[in-house]
Amino acid sequence: METKRLIEKGQELKKNDRIVITGGGGFIAGNLARYFHDKGFTRIRAVDKKPLPEWYQRVPGVECLSLDCSEEDNCRRVCEDAAEVYNLAADMGGMGFIERFRVECLRSILINTHMIEAAWRAGARRYFYSSSACAYNVLLQQDPNIRALKESDAYPAMAERGYGWEKLMSEMFCQEYWAERGFKTAIARFHNVYGPHGTWDGGREKAPAALCRKVIEAVDTGSAKISIWGDGRQTRSFMYIADCVKGIDRIMHCDELVATPVNLGSSELVSINDLVTQVEQIAGVKLERQYDLNAPRGVAGRNSDNTFIKRVLGWEPDTALQTGLGVTYHWIQEQFHARKKGKRIVE
Ligand code: NAD
Repeated sequence: METKRLIEKGQELKKNDRIVITGGGGFIAGNLARYFHDKGFTRIRAVDKKPLPEWYQRVPGVECLSLDCSEEDNCRRVCEDAAEVYNLAADMGGMGFIERFRVECLRSILINTHMIEAAWRAGARRYFYSSSACAYNVLLQQDPNIRALKESDAYPAMAERGYGWEKLMSEMFCQEYWAERGFKTAIARFHNVYGPHGTWDGGREKAPAALCRKVIEAVDTGSAKISIWGDGRQTRSFMYIADCVKGIDRIMHCDELVATPVNLGSSELVSINDLVTQVEQIAGVKLERQYDLNAPRGVAGRNSDNTFIKRVLGWEPDTALQTGLGVTYHWIQEQFHARKKGKRIVE
């Protein structure tokens, strides 16, 4: 039986403390590694099961390991001498992926189960878990004109099948490691994140990147048409990646939020039709919309209630969608044209 660890107070993270980030070859964790690197941290270890050439970003000076974190032994290796662990690895994607591959999504439970134990055994001081708005009760999201979701709306539980239940269960691991063992855990429920260095093609991309790519393709081929999943009236909010990594840092280092799920998302609600209009404005085109009513569309409406994060941190994600979308559109455009020439841009 494990005993509760004495909680060290006021131990600030030093620039040469070991930071471990899983999912480092992917979107958010890759950007998080760059964020800590740019803040002057010198011992960052990123890990991902993807082979190194497939990582979205390779940040200079960051140790990069290609290991599968659903295996216990690998997690022990990954967590060696860790002061803080950020677990962002998951088998995931947009609606097209999570509605189709529920088993893969559920199996991500192995990653968090082994990572949190390994982090605890390694003596890490803090542990971050990337949860999702998909952990919320789907019955509260059946209308495009929904009220925003607040943290208490996850229970009574009726999460998104597969992906959402894995998130809810892993959140509970984080809460019990704190309650029983005194391990400081942080849990952020991300609401749709977008930005440069994210997935924009191949089936796992989410709506903002997919729509940017479709508009870029339409401009490139001169087709003047765009296909939209669903009737376009579904509503969502979208958080820019710079806000996401800033929020992860703030949530992780706030003692008031230990083991307490908190929304990390934008509260700027838009319909998918609005999103298409914004991308068209950036591209300077107007396309004919074709709605695919048989495509996956997810819940009818979802927004982030930021009352709690604003009260505790005095901050919420605040990059305007139009601003973040402009940067993202131009980044995807660059990747698109590089790929046409047979190149891939990795910084
Ligand atoms: P991503 O797919 O770009 O990154 C996840 C990375 O995890 C991938 O590179 C993948 O190869 C890696 N991975 C998967 N299984 C692994 C394993 N067994 N061992 C090691 N690495 C493994 O996704 P992302 O958008 O960067 O998401 C990061 C985290 O944030 C995930 O936990 C995701 O569920 C969560 N999240 C993301 C969003 C979003 O909008 N992007 C929304 C809610 C929650």
